Amino acid sequence: MTAAAFSTADIAVVGGGIASTAAVLRLLRTGHSPLWIAPAQKEGNLPGEHLSPAARPMLEEIGAAGLLDAACHRPEQSVFSAWGSDQLAERSGIVHLEGPSTVLERAAFERDLRALAIGAGAAPAEARLTGLDWSGEGWILEVDDGDRLGRCGAQFILDGSGRAAVVAGIQAPDHAARLRADQLVALCVVLSQEENAGVEPTRATLLETVPEGWWYATLQAGGRLILNFYTDPDLLPRDVTRDTSVFRAMLERTTYVGRWLRDAEFSLDAPPDLVSAGTTWLAPATGEGWVAIGDAAAAFDPLSSHGMTTALWTGIRGADAAIARLGGDAEPLADYAEKVGRGVQEFLQSRATIYAEERRFDASPFWERRKGAVTDAMVAGS
Ligand SMILES: Cc1cc2nc3c(=O)[nH]c(=O)nc-3n(C[C@H](O)[C@H](O)[C@H](O)COP(=O)(O)OP(=O)(O)OC[C@H]3O[C@@H](n4cnc5c(N)ncnc54)[C@H](O)[C@@H]3O)c2cc1C
Repeated sequence: MTAAAFSTADIAVVGGGIASTAAVLRLLRTGHSPLWIAPAQKEGNLPGEHLSPAARPMLEEIGAAGLLDAACHRPEQSVFSAWGSDQLAERSGIVHLEGPSTVLERAAFERDLRALAIGAGAAPAEARLTGLDWSGEGWILEVDDGDRLGRCGAQFILDGSGRAAVVAGIQAPDHAARLRADQLVALCVVLSQEENAGVEPTRATLLETVPEGWWYATLQAGGRLILNFYTDPDLLPRDVTRDTSVFRAMLERTTYVGRWLRDAEFSLDAPPDLVSAGTTWLAPATGEGWVAIGDAAAAFDPLSSHGMTTALWTGIRGADAAIARLGGDAEPLADYAEKVGRGVQEFLQSRATIYAEERRFDASPFWERRKGAVTDAMVAGS
């Protein structure tokens, strides 16, 4: 490996997801040219597609709201749920004043957002941050693009590296504790209809609880079905990520999800992927010369469907706070950290309320662990 040329900027943005890209767009719009350390987008499916209507004003703020008009995304009109009851209840998107959610084709949305930033003048370095040092006058960032190791400089860092939260991890592992309210994981799979299927699948989202966790299924505009099962790692059946028949057997124990798949002739041909989906956060979400944005600051149980909205909000407001800090004003940064902390506490309260609505499985460990408010004693470092 060889060393790449040294470049500097006032602000460096780490990560290539929604939070980082929103931050980059915000910085460009305010006349800044950040260093952007953004690994290439992963091939294939990205989990997370339900975009809350609360995201639209933020997308407008960074000139990206038009991306939602692409034909591969669809407005969500119907959510059905069997949560706390054997009966299926429907919630219509039309009755919400702020408008419906959007079911995204997530990989396309992230590709388009990145293209928008590049079109606005951003030049992402497809590399990973591997090391950090404070020189006395600014940060030295060590990066690795797979072929070459490089070093670059910045006065301030926006960390949008997702749940990895690399800046806090490298720079201040003791200063900013990563806290965790649960160990939630998701089994994720994307299904297509069988060839020659004679049915048009319902354009909707479905939630269903079972003793070991909860199912989520949503139809994308292109007709593929996103299917996730949320549970705790110790409750996962053996071999579920290797043997398709294990996941199929789990589906057969559902009432509504399995029926939807059968009636609309979706086929399950491969076992699901396993990803982390728990509620974890940094306290505080800022440090000397850096601020965490998106999942790096706070990652929520996907029950909230607020991860992407939080990524947008923290990306934009984190960028504003960084600019203010470089101009000598530390208050917006303190205000940002306070709001992120408050948002986490509010989320934990709503999470407890929603999980408490399911009383049929009180004796099961998954639901027992989520009863009541999260206390300090339940929060352990990750
Ligand atoms: C199963 C599941 C379902 C979900 N469903 C929804 C949903 O329906 N609605 C919703 O709003 N949210 C949902 N979420 C949450 C949502 O996906 C996240 O909140 C969102 O992706 C956070 O964006 P981000 O940019 O902060 O992080 P990420 O999307 O994780 O991006 C992190 C970026 O950092 C990069 N990176 C990592 N390490 C380094 C490094 N060392 N150097 C440089 N870059 C690095 C990565 O390559 C990536 O580009 C879901 C999450 C999961 C797990």
